[in-house]
Amino acid sequence: MFTQSLKIDHARYILTVDRERRIIQDGAVLIEGGRIRRVGKAAELADASAERVIDGRHLVITPGFFNGHMHISYAHPVRGIFPDEQASPLLHVFNLQSAMTEDEEYHATLLGLVELVRNGTVCFLDPGSTQFPDACLQAYEDAGIRVVLGEAVTDQEAPWKLPRYPAAEAVARTTSFIEKWNGRLDGRIRAWAMPFSYETCSADLLQALKRVVDERRSGLTLHHSSGAKARTDAVGRYGHSPTAYLESLGVLGPNVLLAHCLGLDEAEIDVVARTGTAIAMCPVTAAKGGRGVPQHGRMPEFLARGVKIALGCDSPNNSNHLDMVRTMNMAAIQYKDARQDTHLVPAEAALEMATIQGAQAMGLGDELGSIEVGKKADLVCFDTLRPEWQALWNPVNTLVYNADGRSVHTVVIDGRVVVDAYRQRFVDEPRLFARVQEIGERLQARTGVSFPRSRWPMS
Ligand SMILES: [Zn+2]
Repeated sequence: MFTQSLKIDHARYILTVDRERRIIQDGAVLIEGGRIRRVGKAAELADASAERVIDGRHLVITPGFFNGHMHISYAHPVRGIFPDEQASPLLHVFNLQSAMTEDEEYHATLLGLVELVRNGTVCFLDPGSTQFPDACLQAYEDAGIRVVLGEAVTDQEAPWKLPRYPAAEAVARTTSFIEKWNGRLDGRIRAWAMPFSYETCSADLLQALKRVVDERRSGLTLHHSSGAKARTDAVGRYGHSPTAYLESLGVLGPNVLLAHCLGLDEAEIDVVARTGTAIAMCPVTAAKGGRGVPQHGRMPEFLARGVKIALGCDSPNNSNHLDMVRTMNMAAIQYKDARQDTHLVPAEAALEMATIQGAQAMGLGDELGSIEVGKKADLVCFDTLRPEWQALWNPVNTLVYNADGRSVHTVVIDGRVVVDAYRQRFVDEPRLFARVQEIGERLQARTGVSFPRSRWPMS
């Protein structure tokens, strides 16, 4: 629903996440031409009128959420098929993903977008999973969401079915992808280089891709983790730890986003901090996949060093939900338990990672990530007329520890209301859900990737 001007009046709380981290009670926001023109106490904005006014008396307003690592292609039609003991079923994942048709990927993407926006996500980064961006463009446009896209490339042997090209071809493909896609949909699409990982890409390829994104003021993301074994292997192969290896190639920096980042040691954390490299961490994926957060999770150390951290949901078969509120919750609680220390990752830090830090990590922090005058108007309104929002004293604690994405009432992206009183209007949900279920059935039959439907007898 497009309106030139929109006012949210008498909001119960506005969590601005601005420089002073102001929380405004009985607040108002005025949006004009897709940007935030005024924000303050409702009384201060009493003179401001707008084409549409939303009564905010029962709403808590936050900036929109950023999902810094979310594979949107294959997983929705087969979500939940893997039994728990298949914690990292990557062989099956890439067989399924590479078998998707254009039409299947479009519908799976549409469902992913419905789930993302209805849970308050305004921008997500797909790490190169989408094979048919031309087909999915309409879905991005209809959903009104922001997306960071790219084409996954590798030039080395990999244990999984990843797209592999000679290095020069991978560079040419990435360059033309960025030139074709960057800035489309009024700037809501960003195009990046997306080499899969340091293990699956040569040094030449990684360096060439970094040059491409530096020249085009774009970004680069890759999967990156470390750990005792990975360090030993990398020292044997490259003479460096995995992270120091990337630094030695010159491929780290503020326009680089490393995904997952489990198992880094102090020296590697120092490399990330020193180079200004950003990271995306997927706390639910780490927990559900049994990745050993007590041993390998380093979020508190990254935060202490000022590293920009985005939160991610990974694939819908990893986390398995696309709910950034639940993701914030996991980020805020898992380190308290892992290290038996309740000081770690406060609720405020979790909200920062989902909003302003996520935007900064994705190179969008100047325009997005907080509710401040002049920034683009992306925000989420939470409905407090729900049991989990009672009683309401500390809205950040309530959001992170009590709520989940089901209380997302209204979502605004670029000044446009994309979720309006719980409803999105770009797709017929029951029809889409049935379609995606059918796609999942066909995909399992075609690939032979399927598992017993239940441990329990199903008749
Ligand atoms: Zn990934």
